[in-house]
Amino acid sequence: MKKLVFLAALVSTTISAQTDQNIYDIIKAVSEERIKNDIKTLADFGTRHTLSDTVSSTRGIGAARRWIKQEFETISKSCNNCLDVFYQNNFVKEGTNGRIVKDVWVVNVVAVQKGTTYPNNYIIMSGDIDSRVSDPTDYTSDSPGANDNASGMAGTIEAARVLSKYKFENSIIYVGLSGEEQGLFGGQGLAKHAQEQNWNVIGILNNDMIGNITGVDGVIDNRTFRIFSEPVPPTETERERNARRFYGGEVDGISRQLARYVHKTVKTYMPEMNPMMVYRLDRFGRGGHHRPFNDVGFAGIRIMEAHENYTQQHQDIRTENGIAYGDTFEHVNMPYAKKLTAVNAINLASIASAPPAPKTVELGGAVQPSTKLKWEPVEGATGYKIYWRDTTSPTWDHSRYVGNLTEFTLEGIVVDNFYFGVAAVGANGHESIVTFPNKILRD
Ligand SMILES: [Zn+2]
Repeated sequence: MKKLVFLAALVSTTISAQTDQNIYDIIKAVSEERIKNDIKTLADFGTRHTLSDTVSSTRGIGAARRWIKQEFETISKSCNNCLDVFYQNNFVKEGTNGRIVKDVWVVNVVAVQKGTTYPNNYIIMSGDIDSRVSDPTDYTSDSPGANDNASGMAGTIEAARVLSKYKFENSIIYVGLSGEEQGLFGGQGLAKHAQEQNWNVIGILNNDMIGNITGVDGVIDNRTFRIFSEPVPPTETERERNARRFYGGEVDGISRQLARYVHKTVKTYMPEMNPMMVYRLDRFGRGGHHRPFNDVGFAGIRIMEAHENYTQQHQDIRTENGIAYGDTFEHVNMPYAKKLTAVNAINLASIASAPPAPKTVELGGAVQPSTKLKWEPVEGATGYKIYWRDTTSPTWDHSRYVGNLTEFTLEGIVVDNFYFGVAAVGANGHESIVTFPNKILRD
């Protein structure tokens, strides 16, 4: 077992070149071949529709979930039982919506890698088990769902293979969610389960379609991918909403901070990639499995390809006017699925290696030439990093490592002109997600 160790010395002030060799090793360890095999296996279950057969050992969602569970168990065996693997079951009654045409057990497959320091803090990576064709209630036709979403599912399994070779301070959950196409039922079930179990969910990286590089418009791009995040949580209070008018934060909710974290990690370790922050919950009028987590107040983002091909999504397999419709195996670009899997793996590793984010950050400095920040100390942190940016910038462009303090004054920086945040830094150099100020500092 390797422990994530920080090789470069901690450098204070501004953006320093802090990198961790283990993160590069993790990128390298992700296997295109294994992802390809897993996508093939998943597509070959014929259909993985949520309402499909659960008895057959070769066809339907039952066979698919048993296979996923078995994969997680095999991974666990080779890391000294480091994964706790189980089904999380959710009963959904016929008629709950128009897509639930019979009673069904929506079953998620969960694998938990327990953290050594903060076992109750969880960072989650998800893919979906289920698939669909043109008619969302058609649970018998062939529905390979190779890109949507065997790609995300295979990436999740592969991340578990790679990261189970390491130990982390926080817990990581690898999960295959079901019932996505029928109305996000698996995500709802697991989010509720997390609340009932009092899991402290750091956030969820939901992967939904990570294998297509040829857009329906003909654009081919194997570098760009999208990170969707909602602006602020739907659970915020009226008081928080009012405070935003005067103190800012319209684009700085917890999911947005998670999105910025992913963007930064990718820019640092995979500079060849082109992460695209999209300032919305999901695509226009469309949904994904991070949403049920957002709904209950957890941070969550959607990671996906930049260029979709709608002739290969939710389509009956057929040829029409020379166009081959259907979400089939041969359309998936494996090198790209591998890259996006690595994007997830390095972010899981970084977040799972970091101390928790400061709970409270106070900001002050009105009618003063300097900005003042004060934060609650974090157990396990050995220092803190203040971030700030222009109000129009999507990313934290300026930073200053201030050491093991709990307040700091940024001389000459006027509070009105920037947004600010604070991250906790561990002895290994890994940083928490940034906490946006949630209290006013008055002196
Ligand atoms: Zn879909």
